[in-house]
Amino acid sequence: MVGGGQLARMTHEAGIPLGIKFKLLSDTPQDSAAQVVSEVVLGDYRDLDTLRDFARGCDVITFDHEHVPAEHLAALEADGVVIRPGREALVHAQDKGVMRARLDEIGAPSPRHRIVADPADAAAFAAEVGGFPIILKTVRGGYDGKGVWFVRTPEDAHDPFRAGVPVLAEEKVDFVRELAANIVRSPHGQAVAYPVVESRQVDGVCDTVIAPAPGLDEELAGQAQELALRIAKELGVVGHLAVELFQTKDGRILVNELAMRPHNSGHWTQDGAVTSQFANHVRAVLDLPLGDPRPRAPWTVMCNVLGGDYPDMYSAYLHCMARDPQLKIHMYGKDVKPGRKVGHVNTYGDDLDDVLERARHAAGYLRGTIVE
Ligand code: ADP
Repeated sequence: MVGGGQLARMTHEAGIPLGIKFKLLSDTPQDSAAQVVSEVVLGDYRDLDTLRDFARGCDVITFDHEHVPAEHLAALEADGVVIRPGREALVHAQDKGVMRARLDEIGAPSPRHRIVADPADAAAFAAEVGGFPIILKTVRGGYDGKGVWFVRTPEDAHDPFRAGVPVLAEEKVDFVRELAANIVRSPHGQAVAYPVVESRQVDGVCDTVIAPAPGLDEELAGQAQELALRIAKELGVVGHLAVELFQTKDGRILVNELAMRPHNSGHWTQDGAVTSQFANHVRAVLDLPLGDPRPRAPWTVMCNVLGGDYPDMYSAYLHCMARDPQLKIHMYGKDVKPGRKVGHVNTYGDDLDDVLERARHAAGYLRGTIVE
């Protein structure tokens, strides 16, 4: 796996019971996955020679992030290296402009959008969609809300252009909530769909995921799953695909973005589904039959644990574990920095209010924002 973050750490964990030899390309030995994988190559994923050396001896390569340059992926494929998902699919998760154009082609619903050349063009786009505010996004390099601007006035429209990367303008969707439709597809074309979840963000960062999305109309949930399966098929995705969606006031769903790797909106599956997103990603990448995606409990809630003011989160375990014996804690081994995602917790059960309260309490206690 290329990339040493928590997604690689948890994918590695899912491969252990299958006896898979897992090799990692990581930036530093301190990276979340590099701390636990036995075969770690330290190096820069932006360097083609490093990638080529790393690929030697691998049966298949997959990714913990979408930042490996597309031309390097093409070079590796030309060398005969098996990459899953492949370059042709991955480019849609790397470049929001390419993604929007392709989704239009296959008739998948998106917010109104177009590439804009400069702040004046952004203002013209705003006029076309009924005025400010609009959303501007750099087509490449964004994550966790970085690279996304809520633009309220023409003066606000200057910053996104400073990065020197093409800028995508989108109408500001008046959504009631954000959903995610997560599916896994194998090279054979076998695919499984997880229940559609609700994802709540705070300051552009995922905070809580509820599985399944409460009160979601069955028909809309089915549409969202079918849409994700269709996108995966049309784009040739192999592995886990997260389709982030907006649910609008008038009961439609619009695609926000695509991630072709395990995703934060699927962390609940570790404890809440028969087969986790990580286990199914491993199976798909190795072209093995996929596992059952169905939930184990009526409700599962995932809350991210963000870094707080004190560096030692482990002292909070005593309280959290004693309070809730069913609580599942997943920490990533990262140094605690305020606002950084350092772990998550999962809770599950029959009563949504109770399951939500337990997850929120544990995440808040670990962070230090709840003290009793
Ligand atoms: P990232 O690459 O950081 O994940 P996203 O494209 O998912 O960026 O945008 C981050 C957040 O910004 C979304 O989760 C959503 O809350 C908000 N957002 C993005 N696009 C729009 C839009 N067109 N309308 C309204 N809100 C948006």
